[in-house]
Parts: sequence; C-alpha cells; structure tokens
Amino acid sequence: MRHYSAWSLLRARLAGNSHWQPLWSGQSLQQAYDVVVVGAGGHGLATAFHLARDHGIKRVAVLEKRLVGYGNVGRNTTIVRSNYLLPENHYFYEDSLRRYETLSRDLNYNVMYSPRGVVDLALSDDDFPGLARRGNALRLAGIDAELMNISALERFCPELEPRRSRRFPILGALVQRRGGTVRHDAVAWGYARAASALGVDIIEDCEVTGVRTRGEVATGVETNRGYVQAERIAFATAGHTGMIGTMLGVPLPIETHLLQAMVSEPVKPLLHTVLVYVAPGHAETYICQSDRGGLVMGGHLDGFPSYTREGQWDRLEDVVQGAVELLPQVGALRILRQWAGTNDMTMDGSPIIDRLRYDNVFVNAGWCYGGFKAIPASGAACARFVATGTAPDLIKAFRLSRFATGHLLDERGGGPFPARQ
Ligand SMILES: Cc1cc2nc3c(=O)[nH]c(=O)nc-3n(C[C@H](O)[C@H](O)[C@H](O)COP(=O)(O)OP(=O)(O)OC[C@H]3O[C@@H](n4cnc5c(N)ncnc54)[C@H](O)[C@@H]3O)c2cc1C
Repeated sequence: MRHYSAWSLLRARLAGNSHWQPLWSGQSLQQAYDVVVVGAGGHGLATAFHLARDHGIKRVAVLEKRLVGYGNVGRNTTIVRSNYLLPENHYFYEDSLRRYETLSRDLNYNVMYSPRGVVDLALSDDDFPGLARRGNALRLAGIDAELMNISALERFCPELEPRRSRRFPILGALVQRRGGTVRHDAVAWGYARAASALGVDIIEDCEVTGVRTRGEVATGVETNRGYVQAERIAFATAGHTGMIGTMLGVPLPIETHLLQAMVSEPVKPLLHTVLVYVAPGHAETYICQSDRGGLVMGGHLDGFPSYTREGQWDRLEDVVQGAVELLPQVGALRILRQWAGTNDMTMDGSPIIDRLRYDNVFVNAGWCYGGFKAIPASGAACARFVATGTAPDLIKAFRLSRFATGHLLDERGGGPFPARQ
C-alpha cells in the first residue's frame, strides 16, 4: 500500500491529481456474455466478483442503469450484524459477517469494518424475554450475543448514561460485539475494482429494459444500448425488482418503500457503538457515529410505497426525537444531510434468491432494510447458484415458492432493528 505525506498530497492536488487511477473503467459493452448481472449495487457486484474469482467464469458483465453505488448500497447506514432469531437467517447473516471481517484483505481494499457492537436496548421488562430468546438462539448457534443488565450496559457504553432519567427508562440490552459498521461506498468500490481486475465488464448508464426469450429459455437482455446475448441472467436490482417481475410476467411479493437516514454535522467522538432504540408507538431510532464524526441516524419506513428517494419530514422528526432522548447532546447539533433509498420489502421480511420464470434467469432481492449486511454472503451464494445451477444450502430457504406454500421466514425487523418477537 502506498503512503502519502501531506506535502505529496498537496503537490498532487496542485497538479490536478493526474496520477489518480480509475478503480474500474475502459470496458465496453460486448455483444455476448456467459453471465449478465443486472444492477451494480452491492449484491450485483459481489455476485460478479465471485462468478469470476470462484467459478472462473470469464465473460461476465454488470449492467447498471445509473452509476456504481448510486442505489441503496451507497445510501444505507452501514450497520452490519448477524443477530437474527430464525436459523435460516442467523446462519446466513453470520456467514456474511464473517466474510466482512476479512473483506478488506480479500478485496485488497479497505472497507473499514468497525466491530463496535450493536446494542439493542430494552426499555421495559417485557422487552427482556424476547431479547433473551433471540440471544439464546444465537448462542446455541455459536453466534455471539450478550444479554446485559443495566450495570453491564453502563460499563459497555458509559456515554449512554443508562441510569439517567428518561421518559422510557433503559433497563438493559442485547449486545452483539462483533456487529458494527462497514463503510458502504468502499464495499461497492472494492467489489467493483476487484471484479474489474478479474475481467468483469462494469457498464454504467446501461438500463435493462426487457428479456428476450426463445421457448422456455432466456437468450439475452434488451438495453438502452441494444441487445446483449447472455447464457444466464442474474437480476440484483433491489428496489426495482417489482419492475423486473412485471417485465417477466411474474408478480413478486415485493413492495418498494422509502427508508430515510440523516447525518449531523461532525463532532469529536461521543458515541463508540451502535444504539438501537425502539419505543413502540413513540420513536424508533438507531444511531452511530461515523469515522468523520457525524451522528448517523435512521428509523422506520416512511409508510407508503414510493420510488421518489425523498423522505417525509415527520419521519425525520420521529428519528431525531429518539436520538435526543438517548443522547441529549445530539439536540445541539445541526442536521447536515438527509436522504432516502428505495427498499425492496417482502411480506415476511426475508430475502428471495431463486430462479425467476426461466431456468437461466435468477433473482436476488427482497433485502428489505437489511441488505447491506448481506452482501458478502449473498454474492458468494448467488454466484454459486448461477454457476452450478444448484442453490447452496445457505440460501435454500430463500426460495420464492415459500410465499405460495406458506413456509414463510417471518422476521420483520428494521435496518438495524431486529424483529421483536
Ligand atoms: C436509508 C437506508 C438505510 C439502510 N441501512 C442499512 C443498514 O444499516 N444495514 C443494512 O444491512 N442494510 C441497510 N439498508 C438496506 C440496504 O442498503 C439494501 O438492502 C441493499 O443495499 C440492497 O442491495 P444492493 O446494494 O444490491 O442495492 P442497490 O445499490 O440499490 O443496487 C441495485 C442497482 O440496480 C440498478 N438497477 C435497477 N433497475 C435496473 C435496470 N433495469 N437495469 C440496470 N440497472 C438497474 C439500480 O440503479 C441500482 O444501482 C438501508 C437502506 C436505506 C435506504
């Protein structure tokens, strides 16, 4: 890794940074590929990377209608954890968290994994049985989880001052210490750079508008740049997956909803962990501090389907109210930015990774509020599915048919909000 002094950075800046190398570029759209991946979000890029690295598939393209990282992968609040209740989910997300632990090395790109702990606060005696149940399920599966009483929480997170008088008193928490944050755009850039180095074509400004078929086989995709032949097609279009279903004539159990987040002006370190605060009917907030110093905050969905990527003010108010109740000093800060993304919500809160209508068409979607933490596991598993035609055990439960048979994986939580069951 190259190191730069302040002087060399200044000199480079004055020279217009002419030495900068693009992370990926120069690829032109070919007429035919072994695999076309649609969508250069985290899931599409990770899938392409694993197709090339693990399965030696040489002719892979990622077609993206906007820019790498323009979608939710660059809009999320960067929280990673594996503390899900259901085995189908917690084994999958644990696989992902383990991959995040070594991702900087695997991609040779610093994704800034920060295991600062995810603290799911208990605000009433009624919260404890649910948190204990989830913690026990995780520990039985060999996944770290600690149920903390107020004294232990005070030691773990003194800046929270858990004993301070609050409208909703804090009584304890379920903590996953290996949970934390990973820099979101670094994940997109790291996968794009690594995939590109393996020969994957990453084509931006290329929208897939249709799928061409012959009998029961898809033969390629129509794009705004013309037809591209493909032996296999994998859709990883997150909030736009409903449209892909319509394109293929398969109604999907997915609705697109807005999730917004915001960041305050930067300040010196005041919070070293991720706090999750759910006071039903009152406020739902999670908060952490970015390495730049901004307090990053989010809450629940805006409450109605939309593609606008603009959040409603009342949700912002709700989130900030929770943040100020947790850490009153946040009330003195200004909000620097607010944004929203489009989330592909399934009815049971769990993802879908399956074939879609044709044997050689795959869909990877339904990540709801939590698909950022899933990227490394999903990329590896999805690539194996596409390359071999057999879904690995890790993702078998995520099949689409569960909505018809009733084998739902009902674990509706929020971004970092684990489901309260
Ligand atoms: C505010 C917010 C906070 C969140 N916080 C967290 C969090 O803390 N932790 C967590 O785990 N998850 C979080 N999430 C969820 C997470 O960001 C998403 O689940 C995940 O990023 C979705 O997968 P992706 O990265 O592949 O999606 P995207 O980045 O959205 O990628 C999909 C891509 O497909 C492209 N596309 C769509 N249609 C077409 C087409 N027809 N042709 C070509 N390209 C197309 C889009 O332009 C887009 O770039 C959050 C989401 C939001 C909005």
